[in-house]
Amino acid sequence: MEISEIKEKDKKINAFIVFNEKFKSDEEKIKGKTKENLSDCGKLKGLKTGIKSNMNVSGLKITCASKTLENYVSFYDATVVERIKQNSGLIVGMTNMDEFACGSSGETSYFNPTQNPSAPGHIPGGSSSGSAAAVAAGFVDCALGSDTGGSIRNPASHCGIVGFKPTYGVVSRYGLIDLAMSLDQIGPMAKDVRTAALLLEVIAGQDGKDATCLNSGGNFSSFHKNLNTNLKNLKFGYAKEFDELISDIGIKNVIHKGIDKISSAGGEIVNVSLPDLNIALPTYYLNVYVEFFSATRKLDGRRYGYRIEDVCGEEVLRRIILGKFISQKENAGSYYRKAIMARTLLKKEISEIFKNIDILLSPTVPKLPHKTGEKISDPMVMYAYDIFTVLANLAGIPAGVVPAGRADRIPTGLQFMGKALGDQKVLNAMYGFENL
Ligand code: GLN
Repeated sequence: MEISEIKEKDKKINAFIVFNEKFKSDEEKIKGKTKENLSDCGKLKGLKTGIKSNMNVSGLKITCASKTLENYVSFYDATVVERIKQNSGLIVGMTNMDEFACGSSGETSYFNPTQNPSAPGHIPGGSSSGSAAAVAAGFVDCALGSDTGGSIRNPASHCGIVGFKPTYGVVSRYGLIDLAMSLDQIGPMAKDVRTAALLLEVIAGQDGKDATCLNSGGNFSSFHKNLNTNLKNLKFGYAKEFDELISDIGIKNVIHKGIDKISSAGGEIVNVSLPDLNIALPTYYLNVYVEFFSATRKLDGRRYGYRIEDVCGEEVLRRIILGKFISQKENAGSYYRKAIMARTLLKKEISEIFKNIDILLSPTVPKLPHKTGEKISDPMVMYAYDIFTVLANLAGIPAGVVPAGRADRIPTGLQFMGKALGDQKVLNAMYGFENL
């Protein structure tokens, strides 16, 4: 699709907040390179890419979809962006999102909500809503999202595309504007597993600018080349607690059909149990409130933009106020310390499960996306979307989503989780499933 056509069609979808006005000249440069020598071109060779609006791209407006940063023009590239450029990826623009990545619906953007191209009239999911919608609408070949508690996987599921959150530390967070730094990971979103794996290998690997980024020893540079479809030697777990939390029968059917397919293809399915699943959401949100409060202290209006509390939306303000309250010394023992303990408990429970299985399967979301414009005033109802996705962030493990079918004509993704640093195995299982 030509850039002019993307711009025209995006008027209906609102996947982008700003376009890269240098796209045409970037494209010409890559065409020139391709003619001269393909090998100079890097791995992406002109693939069109969307970047979520919380990652720095030099010369573009990085707004986090908030009025707070509405006029902030970045002067440097995040490491992931630098690597995409080095590999001749073409940046189409900055994608829409929930404000500061706080949300699961794509509706809290200061620049208006994103529409779901695959299920018109329903939210696209969030917070990487624009990245998912841009891929689903065919505007880009791939996109970057960030995932703190499901923001890559939730919109991937609702929009019918592939999304992958790597192991914590596989991808550099340098140049990402934090939501909660102990949970955030950047990851790829694409139409298929192969393209997602290709984008991952471009962005993954050690970075001197991010101390939490792991040394790969070269292991992260061939994710797409190493893909294989064999499900036969893999042991898949599914927890009975998942079924109890799915509130939509259509989703349950799609997920169980997917599991049956894996079983027919030779994958071994075993029942596992996650008895403390019910504490995952409060554990996650307490961690997020505290870390987000701390991350937003630099947004005081003195250096750039506005003071965040003066202009932000309701959900962002709620997190700042609660984060501040929980962080007070006299409250530390009541909430945050307990949340840290609960996180350790969940992590242990998950690593116990992985002693006996290769992949943990689960639904991505427990309910179908609500209708665009439907007012959800209870935050708990919004938070409920995240129950199956926060586990991977709390435990730091890799997790990806592949379209598994439709429930009530709405795309539904099956989630694949793996052991820390088992990213290749998870991608292989996803690839195997995609090819059934
Ligand atoms: N929906 C979750 C939240 O609101 C996840 C957000 C994310 O992953 N960025 O925190």
